[in-house]
Amino acid sequence: MLTSNVCFLVVSLVKPSSFMPLFKPTLLSEHYSTLQGKQLLTDSRKVSLPSQTVFFALAGANRDGHDFIGELVGKGVAYFVVSQMEKISPEWLEEADFFLVPDTLQALQELAAFHRSQFKIPVIGITGSNGKTIVKEWLSQLLGDSISIVKSPKSYNSQIGVPLSVWEINSQHQLAIFEAGISRPDEMQALAQIIQPQIGIFTNIGTAHSENFPSQRAKIIEKLKLFGQAKFLIVRDIYTQIVEEAQNALPNLKIFGWATGQSQRDQVSLRYCDRNDDGYSVGLYDYRNQKTHHLHVPFTDPAHFENALHCIVVMLFFDYSTEEIQYKIERLRNIPMRLELKKGINNTLLIDDTYNNDLAGLKIALDFFGQNQQKNDKTAILSDLPEEGSSAEVYEKIVHLCAEQNIHRIIGIGERFSTFVAALSNATTLQTTKGLIDAPTVQTFPHTAAFFKAFEGKKIAFENEMILIKGGRRFEFEKIVQLLEQKIHGTKLEISLNALTHNLNFYRNLLNRRTKIMVMVKAFAYGSGNFEVAHLLQYHRADYLAVAYPDEGVALRENGIYLPIMVMNPTVESFETLLRYDLEPEIYSLRLLTEYLRFLEENQKMAYRQNSKLSEQDLQKRYPIHLKLDTGMHRLGFEEQDLPLLLDLLKRNEDKLKIVSLFSHLAGADQAQYDEFSQVQIAQFQQMATKIEASLGIKTLKHLLNSAGIARFPQAQFDMVRLGIGLYGVDSAEVHQDALLPIGTLKTTISQIKTLAPDQTVGYSRKGKLNRVSRIGTLAIGYADGYLRAFGNGVGYVYLHGKFAPTIGNICMDMCMIDLTDIEQAAEGDEVVVFGEKPTVSELAERIGTIPYEILTNVGERVKRVFYAD
Ligand SMILES: *Cc1c(COP(=O)(O)O)cnc(C)c1O
Repeated sequence: MLTSNVCFLVVSLVKPSSFMPLFKPTLLSEHYSTLQGKQLLTDSRKVSLPSQTVFFALAGANRDGHDFIGELVGKGVAYFVVSQMEKISPEWLEEADFFLVPDTLQALQELAAFHRSQFKIPVIGITGSNGKTIVKEWLSQLLGDSISIVKSPKSYNSQIGVPLSVWEINSQHQLAIFEAGISRPDEMQALAQIIQPQIGIFTNIGTAHSENFPSQRAKIIEKLKLFGQAKFLIVRDIYTQIVEEAQNALPNLKIFGWATGQSQRDQVSLRYCDRNDDGYSVGLYDYRNQKTHHLHVPFTDPAHFENALHCIVVMLFFDYSTEEIQYKIERLRNIPMRLELKKGINNTLLIDDTYNNDLAGLKIALDFFGQNQQKNDKTAILSDLPEEGSSAEVYEKIVHLCAEQNIHRIIGIGERFSTFVAALSNATTLQTTKGLIDAPTVQTFPHTAAFFKAFEGKKIAFENEMILIKGGRRFEFEKIVQLLEQKIHGTKLEISLNALTHNLNFYRNLLNRRTKIMVMVKAFAYGSGNFEVAHLLQYHRADYLAVAYPDEGVALRENGIYLPIMVMNPTVESFETLLRYDLEPEIYSLRLLTEYLRFLEENQKMAYRQNSKLSEQDLQKRYPIHLKLDTGMHRLGFEEQDLPLLLDLLKRNEDKLKIVSLFSHLAGADQAQYDEFSQVQIAQFQQMATKIEASLGIKTLKHLLNSAGIARFPQAQFDMVRLGIGLYGVDSAEVHQDALLPIGTLKTTISQIKTLAPDQTVGYSRKGKLNRVSRIGTLAIGYADGYLRAFGNGVGYVYLHGKFAPTIGNICMDMCMIDLTDIEQAAEGDEVVVFGEKPTVSELAERIGTIPYEILTNVGERVKRVFYAD
């Protein structure tokens, strides 16, 4: 067990009537029979079947699970594993069972390890720097036709993800495939004891997380701990260090290596490997039976080739024939390892998740669906599940899960769906976490073609709704996506929701625990797309949003955002809109304040006239405002000398206004040369805020810092910070740039390629001069899309086929030209990256002497935004 040397006390609290907890020391695994089959929950937002749920109150860097217990008790969650009794309120003990443990994460891991040891099935454990998730997904596709497989959902490979994955094993499964990822020393031992693999795959070793290890060798040794009890290890010979360390540390482990050479040690070796247009032709020699398998691997890039070879070697290990391997590997396509949000026809929003197709994957997708409240109507188009889904119960569960996420309509495709759903009760309501709710309507089709027929015959239609599309490979749901998708041609901005989340959490970690975050989503969320970004922030519990203009706030409200929203530039004309949409104005001058007060008075009189039965509450309502103080930016805000009049006005209208916050803005937070000035601003803000609060006898939220301020003046974080560009992946202070992820990739395509003689010129004003025979590509992006004219004539460059291509000639309105002479592979229709990982937004900004903000917010509205989650 994990804890042989730790005294692992588990105290079960028997529900006391006299409020005297009865302590009964025991191990969590001793409650296995109670906990078995229940759902383990670590994220309080994801509860689905409360009476069957065990919540582990984990202490994270940002929040403590104990803080959500009250809410979960309210929702009916039946079991809790906790480590801080002082946070447990006595009345909760009446409602649920509590298990007290010294460390909730260890308890989760220990329970999963105990569960794992109940099963004798073969288990494959995968680790390595890259490719873990792909290899796992591919293996489950390749082997899953004939046997029932349990695997980690998505990339659940962490200290928490692994126990949750392993907990899913049940008696029907014949093979398990789990991935394990670590980022620092001493993490693998725990994962090894949970997974207990007999067969290991070490995909490769790179530089990820190297900063946390003393050496590459130390990192390899740590990862190898996963295979302490394994019998076989699949590893590629070129990673000599892995092979050597494995032999040193684990002499009993049989290495099933695959090599490019002839070395006798390997059980499989690559006798030849020829790259052609559509993949590699390989000859794999198996030393065990001295047979060569001639195969075609349908991938051209080296990383996928390596991943595919790992999978083929596993199939050889399981004695699949050459023909079987070839048949299956041909059908393996490079599946998108992500879930995408796309604009659909008739004002619909599609969630395209053809990633995987099992119950665990479905739960994740539904959860994602639930996070996004942009449309009220929701449809899920789902296919039969593979093996494990062969019972009516599973389909009943699917209907329930969908109902809980407010899905109104399920379109089920496949024979099993049709059969099992027909057998379900015709109840029109369902009992769920959210009480009794309407059952979704279910329409079924025996196969995808039947669905298409119904669509063409207008028997089924989609309008103004969100649509989740999730199906097994053989159902070819990508065709449904094509059918319903609004076609995107040319240029698109892809936004990574995971990167946004990463950046948000990164900043959270920099802040004190109590500091709130207001996120700036002005200017279309810095060009990224305000609705999706706002929904993500809402889901991740940002405290406040801020926009520049009232219209931006209205659009957010109309798309399901309920977080409080501050509007920085309110106008007199917009006051009514502010009230109607519950938007909170920034008040920055006496003029504006006077106007607002007059409006509120008028508004109340009018309400009186229209409705004499106005409630006491309406009359007493105090409207929220945010006061902006000018401490040196000299843009908007009250100055020191305005305070007497301001305070007087505020005192006289105490009953009408609620001053939610006091704030100011630093003028040079990102530059060290202005540090002294910033310090003056901080002091000035402190002084003015203190004066206002003392004079009015109130307490407000005080905030001063933008992204650069968070990085450079953490001592001035007051009650809240205003995060902007940092969320979008750029640290303007350049302190934390390496820790942030770029969130957006602007991509376009090559429309045409021409070969031109040296005496020709390219584009307007004949600016693009050639001095050699040149291949010139025309791109579908111009200055109207935000690719500024300043990037013309070689100042800007784009990225394709691993190389940079400079612009040539002037940038046109909708197009521009690039020099492809040195990139032979470039072909018409190829995708090129304008900015993203390479070149970065910051690099581009520097090239033309501007700041990243301008590059980001310039991306034109006509450029489609595509959101994805890895
Ligand atoms: C835009 C803005 C911010 C955010 O600034 P970043 O540099 O993008 O972090 C903060 N406060 C105010 C008042 C702003 O207008």
